[in-house]
Amino acid sequence: MQTPGSNAGERNVVIIGGGFAGTTLARRLERLLPAPWRVVLISQESYTTFNPMLAEVVGASVFPEHVIAPIRQMIARTRFVMARVTDIDRRRRLVVAETLAGVREIHYEHLVFAFGSRANLSIVPGMAEHALPLKLIGDAMFIRNRVLQRVARIELESDPVVRRRLGHFVVVGGGFSGVEVAGELADFLAGARRYYPRVAADELAVTILQDGERLLPELPECLGRSAARSMGRRGIRIRLGARASLVDADGVMLASGERIDSATVICTIGTRANPVVERLALATQRGRIVTAADMAVDAAGGLWALGDCALVPNAAGGQASPPTAQFAVAQATQLADNLASFVAGRPTRPFRHVSRGMMATTGHMKGVAQIFGLRLWGLPAWLLWRAYYLMRMPTFGRKLRIWVEWSWSMFFSADITHLRFTRSSEADEAAAAGTAPAAVADAIAPLRPPARMAVVAPTAASQTP
Ligand SMILES: Cc1cc2nc3c(=O)[nH]c(=O)nc-3n(C[C@H](O)[C@H](O)[C@H](O)COP(=O)(O)OP(=O)(O)OC[C@H]3O[C@@H](n4cnc5c(N)ncnc54)[C@H](O)[C@@H]3O)c2cc1C
Repeated sequence: MQTPGSNAGERNVVIIGGGFAGTTLARRLERLLPAPWRVVLISQESYTTFNPMLAEVVGASVFPEHVIAPIRQMIARTRFVMARVTDIDRRRRLVVAETLAGVREIHYEHLVFAFGSRANLSIVPGMAEHALPLKLIGDAMFIRNRVLQRVARIELESDPVVRRRLGHFVVVGGGFSGVEVAGELADFLAGARRYYPRVAADELAVTILQDGERLLPELPECLGRSAARSMGRRGIRIRLGARASLVDADGVMLASGERIDSATVICTIGTRANPVVERLALATQRGRIVTAADMAVDAAGGLWALGDCALVPNAAGGQASPPTAQFAVAQATQLADNLASFVAGRPTRPFRHVSRGMMATTGHMKGVAQIFGLRLWGLPAWLLWRAYYLMRMPTFGRKLRIWVEWSWSMFFSADITHLRFTRSSEADEAAAAGTAPAAVADAIAPLRPPARMAVVAPTAASQTP
């Protein structure tokens, strides 16, 4: 193992995680920290993913590269290291990271945890094996390909029960991501169907399962209801008070004992702590690192946390901050000020942020928003949403390119290309063996014969915690 040498006298503030929180923090620290302080940003991908736009990748409204921003274009003086942090030696103040060149140790004076959270598929039995999470750009592209595979396959099936199961997409979770993905998916299927003449409109359906009384509990009630109306008009089935208790290859079992037949279940609920947190034995609540009011985890030991991985109290209201992009960015701004104050020997301030509003898309060119007390529905809300994320893209050139492509795609049907990532060697191997390449195998695997729709009482083990 090797410690990449800092220049003599340099002191590192190391940030782990290049998401909304980490990149905003690095940019601001660049301006606030005097020499000899240096900012080092470590992230396992070379880009920031705009998670709120992942649903639009699923619905093929945007290309995958439109929802990511290269970290190196977002920072100026920060040193970026593409690596996965595997451990932290608190005694020696070292971060252990797997880089492209092997394992490296990076020394820190201050270390900031900004590594977000992971999908947790273990909260419902069978979900890990049979449901598709939506957390990473790879998840979004996988779901999109899976949807196209399912629709293409319906054309080749003759059993009406199997056809309906293939055409039924169930989204578990009625929060931001569940609503966004269900809305995009329904619009995508409606637009794509004309290219699949042997698939009838009523063979395609999207159901959203929400274990609560309404959709979008994060937003004011009237916006949640407006989202539900807009989705209902487009045929999306909204099941409120529906708790998934078991997922299998044929669909979902609800806690009520009802079965819902579906070949594709998308999971948007459940998060778990990053494995690094588990190894550090820090105080956590529901997988989030508990911080002091100024985001310190152990100020004397140089540890701080923010964003989705942290449970940060909000002095405006006294509640814990919600895990949203807006709060991650606000915390980053405040933490940069606090770190600059701390190293200068000045007092730090508690985190305080009054939400400026919230937005969610409910389908292609449709959304709901509440900004500075103003409520918006439909296209205006959706345009505001797009404008916000466009503003956050780095460099004028990138903004312009994406703006042109987004505007263009508003007027044309979604792309139905099913991109397979099969390499020549795999295709050759499969051809020689007379089998399908791995990327296709799942799509053509035989589906089980129509299941009897037995009503099975949920067992104690299958209750969602
Ligand atoms: C599908 C979806 C839809 C959403 N919709 C909305 C929405 O509409 N509105 C809203 O406000 N919020 C939404 N959110 C939540 C929002 O995206 C998060 O609150 C926000 O991204 C949190 O920022 P973060 O920087 O804390 O974490 P992230 O953005 O998750 O970034 C964490 C970074 O850490 C890196 N990382 C993780 N582990 C390691 C490691 N061991 N070593 C190095 N790097 C590591 C990751 O690669 C990633 O770059 C949504 C989230 C999802 C998944």
